[in-house]
Amino acid sequence: NADVELEVRVMPYSDEQFLLIARDVTQLKQLEQMRKDFVANVSHELKTPLTVLQGYLELLEQSDALPPAMLNKAITEMQGQSERMSHLVNQLLSLSRMEISRYDLFERVVDMPQLLNVIATEMNQLNQAKQHQLSFHIDPIKIHGFEDELRSVVINLIANAIHYTPAQGVIEVSWRQVGDEAEFTVTDNGPGIAAEHLGRLTERFYRVDKDRNSKTGGTGLGLAIVQQALDHHHSRLEIESTPGQGSRFSFRISQELIIKA
Ligand code: ADP
Repeated sequence: NADVELEVRVMPYSDEQFLLIARDVTQLKQLEQMRKDFVANVSHELKTPLTVLQGYLELLEQSDALPPAMLNKAITEMQGQSERMSHLVNQLLSLSRMEISRYDLFERVVDMPQLLNVIATEMNQLNQAKQHQLSFHIDPIKIHGFEDELRSVVINLIANAIHYTPAQGVIEVSWRQVGDEAEFTVTDNGPGIAAEHLGRLTERFYRVDKDRNSKTGGTGLGLAIVQQALDHHHSRLEIESTPGQGSRFSFRISQELIIKA
């Protein structure tokens, strides 16, 4: 099998015999590659805003009387880039926090309706500029889970819908009973995502729009955080999308985690 990597060692066994030890290191090598990619991505993501910041700082240092318009542009750019960096660092922290946490799911109760109502208010504020038609349907289902993680899942999915859907779109959020499970969905009528990307969206740093300086793209960590949090709830992010029509992001919580009313 060409995909399997072996680490082979030869050791003397007796005068005429050797011992051949082969170890399958395929998975180890893959993990090592993932770690290298991750570090390279983080460095790149931090370097870009830093370069911009340094450029503007040099400009400010060299000229003692910058025209007001240019000065304003420099300040706005620098604010934008430092926000970008602090957002990235926060996302990285939240990924690593989730990696080290060990805890018992069944010890905690999340009042999803209450959580979603608070988020609905926050998201309506975020939505003001884009004037989407944003609606919520919330069934009274409480579950066992980790509140901070579920909050981050829900906020990431709704914020993406608001972000990627052009102004005055239609966004529907729901939390409802489906069979004996509970399902959370966010549906938008935004640009949609081509099929070839769907399977990779939850990879760290994966973005459809590869242009790193693009105004529309974030860090590409949002959906990786979502999937990691859903892992802790034995759930998986499902994405259905039709380019030009919109997307539907959803996850289900199984019966065992639903608290009987
Ligand atoms: P980002 O920080 O780039 O938003 P995410 O991990 O949250 O990273 O999302 C990964 C990619 O998935 C985005 O770059 C975007 O191209 C695509 N995407 C996410 N949500 C939507 C959506 N509602 N509509 C269209 N594309 C989306």
